[in-house]
Amino acid sequence: GGRTMLSVLIRPYGGGMKLVLSQDITERERTETMRRDFVANVSHEMRTPLTVLSGFIETLTNLPLTEVERKRVLTLMEQQTTRMQGLVSDLLTLAQLEGSPRPRADRWIDVDKLMRHVEGDAKTLSQGRHQLSFTIDAPAQLAGAETELLSALTNLVTNAIRYTPDGGSVHVHWLTSSNGSGEFCVRDSGIGIEKEHIPRLTERFYRVDGSRSRETGGTGLGLSIVKHVIQRHGGELDVESEPGKGSQFRLIFPSLRVRPAQAEPAPAPS
Ligand code: ADP
Repeated sequence: GGRTMLSVLIRPYGGGMKLVLSQDITERERTETMRRDFVANVSHEMRTPLTVLSGFIETLTNLPLTEVERKRVLTLMEQQTTRMQGLVSDLLTLAQLEGSPRPRADRWIDVDKLMRHVEGDAKTLSQGRHQLSFTIDAPAQLAGAETELLSALTNLVTNAIRYTPDGGSVHVHWLTSSNGSGEFCVRDSGIGIEKEHIPRLTERFYRVDGSRSRETGGTGLGLSIVKHVIQRHGGELDVESEPGKGSQFRLIFPSLRVRPAQAEPAPAPS
């Protein structure tokens, strides 16, 4: 915020100074409110599993349990621990994304490699409960940071699976446009999202249905990570959805970061 004020003070024309100044303060207040909300949200998200965990520790300490009951309690404790680990890991990812420079535009990654990686993750998560497909229209390469791109794509595919009932389908497709841009399209036949929620999906901790998100291991941070990653790559996230029918999330990359895959060098004639 300080920079805006300085530029106002050294501007040679006096007019409009007060207006810009008050805009600056409003902006600062907004940032401060967002920061406070964020800290409150993180604390709340951490407190819930901790409360549950301490309850279980008390149970284990004070109640005579059968071996079966004891195992059950330990399984529940493990679930809460995994949830906290997921939260901390997503928070770290966000902090890293915010604190590091944009990924260079000259490291080329095979789209095919990204696809195969998410395919593995998706199969593990779905456990055969969904119809999955992973297709590429033409071999291509993408310039950017591999770990970030994988994390964005994995988040979208994980959501598609988590918000699609058993027996539904999830399709991941790479498409190169005639203007040279390219996109990953993740389409599911799941529960869908009401229109009014769509603009807010990438806000940190925003969830349409908090209990479903938490039950399926969601942190509420996935789509804010996706949005950061795609913005850092100069692209955009497009969301279309119909409640009860399914959703489509597209990661669209500018032509600058997309090129056809280099053909394998021809084998030397013998
Ligand atoms: P979460 O960890 O809760 O999934 P995200 O940031 O990844 O957090 O997503 C935010 C919210 O958007 C989710 O809580 C869910 O309500 C909704 N959502 C995301 N992806 C989908 C999808 N493929 N189908 C239906 N709802 C979705």
